[in-house]
Amino acid sequence: MTALSLERGLAALRDEIDAPVAAFFSSCVHCGLCAQACPFYVETGDPKYTPILKVEPLRLLWEQELSLWGRLKAMLGIGRKVTDEMLEEWEPLLYDSCTMCGRCSMVCPVGNDIQSMVRKTREGMVASGHAPAGLIEASARAIRTGSPMGLTWKTLEAQIKHVESSSGLEVPVDREGVEYLALLSSMEVINFPEYLEAITRIFHHAGVTWTLSKDYFEATNAGVQIGSKDIAAALVQRIVDVVVRLRVRGVISPECGHAYTAVRWEGPNLIEKPYPFEVLHIIELLDKLRAEGRLKTEGKEIDRLSMHDPCNLARKSGVIDQQRNLMGLVAESFVDLKEHGRFQWCCGAGGGVSSNERADELRMAAFKRKKAQIEEIEPDRMVTMCATCRTQLEEGLEEFNMDIPVVGLTEIIADHLVEKGKPA
Ligand code: SF4
Ligand code: SF4
Repeated sequence: MTALSLERGLAALRDEIDAPVAAFFSSCVHCGLCAQACPFYVETGDPKYTPILKVEPLRLLWEQELSLWGRLKAMLGIGRKVTDEMLEEWEPLLYDSCTMCGRCSMVCPVGNDIQSMVRKTREGMVASGHAPAGLIEASARAIRTGSPMGLTWKTLEAQIKHVESSSGLEVPVDREGVEYLALLSSMEVINFPEYLEAITRIFHHAGVTWTLSKDYFEATNAGVQIGSKDIAAALVQRIVDVVVRLRVRGVISPECGHAYTAVRWEGPNLIEKPYPFEVLHIIELLDKLRAEGRLKTEGKEIDRLSMHDPCNLARKSGVIDQQRNLMGLVAESFVDLKEHGRFQWCCGAGGGVSSNERADELRMAAFKRKKAQIEEIEPDRMVTMCATCRTQLEEGLEEFNMDIPVVGLTEIIADHLVEKGKPA
């Protein structure tokens, strides 16, 4: 690692130290409550996974350069410094053991937003060259091809043709002046192709006008995950350009948690201007259609269903009632996990952890918290509304030999639509 890389990293960290960050570090009372909220700490018992310790490079730079005590120590030549070795040591703590789920931020008695500090510290890690290979490759692919998984329009086009032949409905592409641009996530297209058919049928049923775009269909933002504002802004700008070109009124984020927060909350700040359009998660739109009486469903699932709330949706965005309203339409026997909604436990895979192969073992260790929650309730099936969470639930349940299928909420809704000609 060159001195230049370290300098770039330190400059990026300096850039991230604003008044709230300084206040956070000044007010930490070292109570350790954040540790008890973190699935990585709780399931491993290893103190190095204490949330506030994960942002030590940022704290140390703040102390060294902006606090009186740190400056005095530096003058006396006794202060520690942020070095390449330190950043190398912290890389797994910042990327492998944090999903930026925000549960630690909820419990901190002095209001420290630790997950946002992790996000900020990652900016310095990327600039100094200390980021995991999996995330570097995903970011490069996203910039080069538009998809972090290298998914091309040609592959998606094949899926569109399949959906059209199985549903008998057209999947609109590059349609101008419609209500919504629907974004997709590559992981969803690859792992859960049923989502595209589900929205095609629901939008037809409810009379929603919509379109996909050949120019850009990806909802996820590899720049937000790795911690690069430049990459994140470039990817958000591609969405904005499509919206402007097609003159649509809104953007629908698919069943993906981080994609939603990236485009809805971070997006305008990243491109430094407000959007001239609205952004909704698919679950918000479905609940809006339900409230307007535009979703006619029939029959109910009779097995015992429970739900995993994606952190980005429930905790970070307050989308909690909407998915429960929708479950009310289609589930006879729904039971919530004991800790759900704002205080739910993370599945262990978000924030780029699932794109970082090195973290696989730790990701499964963190999943044990979700597993314990599921064991308390003993559902027949789990429902969720994020492709990353769904993949993690499927892998985790299989790893621990728990025979509990996982389904996406949008698909369940589509299965219960009252449709002409649909077999009973
Ligand atoms: S954001 Fe979540 S995963 Fe990261 S340190 Fe906090 S509780 Fe742990
Ligand atoms: S919960 Fe807040 S005050 Fe307590 S150790 Fe963590 S960051 Fe510091």
